[in-house]
Amino acid sequence: MHCPFCNTQDTKVIDSRLVAEGEQVRRRRECNVCGERFTTYETAELVMPRIVKQNGNREPFDEMKLRAGLQRALEKRPVAVEDIEAAITRIKQAIRATGERELPSRILGNFVMDELKELDQVAYVRFASVYRSFQDLNEFRSEIDRLEKKD
Ligand SMILES: [Zn+2]
Repeated sequence: MHCPFCNTQDTKVIDSRLVAEGEQVRRRRECNVCGERFTTYETAELVMPRIVKQNGNREPFDEMKLRAGLQRALEKRPVAVEDIEAAITRIKQAIRATGERELPSRILGNFVMDELKELDQVAYVRFASVYRSFQDLNEFRSEIDRLEKKD
């Protein structure tokens, strides 16, 4: 880390602590050449990949849209808001864990379906029928049969 005063690279960390509820590391540094002190903040870079839609358009990941999609699927279903929020957190983690800068919307849809499958099977089928756009009614029917067999 360059000293912002004299520009040498010869600086040392004299104090390091977590701030912002553990989201950041605050470091006090001292320059070994000019003796000035300065502070740096380190934050994990949490950049979400862009979502590549079926038609090839790219758009930024939109948490509001994700939440709205889940709520639509879960309308009038007995699922707690906390459980929906936990699912959104896990979906975001799964997206970040891909490490990709661009993610096909199909993969995002699969993450959502994995969560809905656990939350509520009716919501899962609702979402899947729209998102995956089942080829025909037979495919839709066999998905429902598969779910019913699991119970
Ligand atoms: Zn310096």
